Amino acid sequence: MIVYKFGGASVSSASSIKSLAGIVKECKEELFIVISAFGKTTNNLEALLSLWYKNSDKRFSVYNDIVGYHYNIISKLFPSVNHHVYDVFSELTLNIERRLHDVPGDNYDFEYDQLVSYGELISTRIVSAFLETSGLKNQWADARSWLKTDDTFREGKVNYIQTELNIKELVRTRNSNIYVTQGFIGGTADGHTTTLGREGSDYTAAIIASMLDAVKLVVWKDVPGILTADPLFFPEAEKLDFISYREAIELSFYGAKVIHPKTIKPLQNKNIPLYVKSFLDPGGSGTLIQGPESQSPIRPIVIIKREQILVSLTPRDFSFVVEDCLSRIFALFFKYNVKVNLIQHSAISFTLCFDNKGPFVMRLLEELGIEFRVLYNEDLELITIRHYTQDAIKKHSTGRKLIVEQRSRTTAMLVVS
Ligand code: ASP
Ligand code: MG
Repeated sequence: MIVYKFGGASVSSASSIKSLAGIVKECKEELFIVISAFGKTTNNLEALLSLWYKNSDKRFSVYNDIVGYHYNIISKLFPSVNHHVYDVFSELTLNIERRLHDVPGDNYDFEYDQLVSYGELISTRIVSAFLETSGLKNQWADARSWLKTDDTFREGKVNYIQTELNIKELVRTRNSNIYVTQGFIGGTADGHTTTLGREGSDYTAAIIASMLDAVKLVVWKDVPGILTADPLFFPEAEKLDFISYREAIELSFYGAKVIHPKTIKPLQNKNIPLYVKSFLDPGGSGTLIQGPESQSPIRPIVIIKREQILVSLTPRDFSFVVEDCLSRIFALFFKYNVKVNLIQHSAISFTLCFDNKGPFVMRLLEELGIEFRVLYNEDLELITIRHYTQDAIKKHSTGRKLIVEQRSRTTAMLVVS
């Protein structure tokens, strides 16, 4: 068994879906294909959800854009309007439209999963039908029925035991050598749709690879592999040929959009190699992720997080910031589900850097203000350099105002404005 995962960018147009079919044709093994929503569809469905909650009429035009984008792809892939994919597509989109005429329920996370999951339900139907017409007989597998989660909507916790039984049964009773399934989504025991968190398709693919003891997982992207920096901002970025599981986990922890952070563990547990490759250059070597240590000396890898806020807290009564006080601070971060990227500590002040995103940040600061004097700086960047060199630090900090700098043996972190 081999597992392929195609992310949004690798299924964003008719021509990329044709490349996908070409890649699948080349594979002679039993193949599980995991697919994300097309292009930026998940973002667009999130926007749709928020307009629906605001009861804004604009939701219908956003809905029409989503439908139009998919329709355009379908019409290029299936010239005959009699193809059954057109019926399947209108049924799925009609389900979305009906929802939009209703009033959304109080449970936002629940409604999120019921609506946003349509991105993958639609994309997999289209790809499966296109493979079929390209002579690649395949079985469309509904992740809501085999990937079982609890009812933590938007961040479903996978029931590994049930899921493994289901997927093994699916493969045992197969009627073809190619399976097409949705990344990112799953289902509860009582039949509701869940999602696994943004970018969760990688994780789905890793779960399949690990449960079916796949020989490898390939994640197909629009970049040649894992790069030393974001090529959009650093054209000199280079591809890494090989990194360890550990390095991949560290990179995603610091915010590199390499691979979903939960992807590595299932693979590492069974030592399954993970390749990141470009669907535009299927013959390219890509990046191989495997093993405990990287064999080649690693070059500096740069990860930049924008829209950072740096907050310093000083107890109003001038007492020391010690353990009991730290536990109260972190309890509040936990309460508001705000994840901290960097901390710095002195006798009477405590500084934290985190993403300045979401409606909760200001509420969090207000609540911290009850016990602490709160000072903050916004619009900062957090630059993390793994395997830093003096030159790399200099390159990324010159011309910037350096506000905090921290170094461990392997990693330097700079907060700059
Ligand atoms: N389509 C989902 C997202 O954009 C899942 C994924 O792409 O991995 O987050
Ligand atoms: Mg995606």
